[in-house]
Amino acid sequence: MSGWTVQLLIDCDIVVSARCNNVVCDNYQELNLNRLSDKFGSEASALEKDIAPRMRCSKCGHDRVRLSYAPRPMVAAPHADVSALA
Ligand SMILES: [Zn+2]
Repeated sequence: MSGWTVQLLIDCDIVVSARCNNVVCDNYQELNLNRLSDKFGSEASALEKDIAPRMRCSKCGHDRVRLSYAPRPMVAAPHADVSALA
């Protein structure tokens, strides 16, 4: 699983979202993978165990966040790409 680099997530249009583990905060945020790439390098491992410990909640400062990964088509509505089919 070491092949899960930040660049791979960008290439595959994977959405990584972070949720604060502090139950009274429960902040939820979609990560900016380009910023992650700038910070850690595009070849850095993007596994939760590798990047979650380096992040903290932007709202309450809690240093435990959970990450989830999902393909963008499952997160957002498909883009208006229908013109390409015409
Ligand atoms: Zn928080």
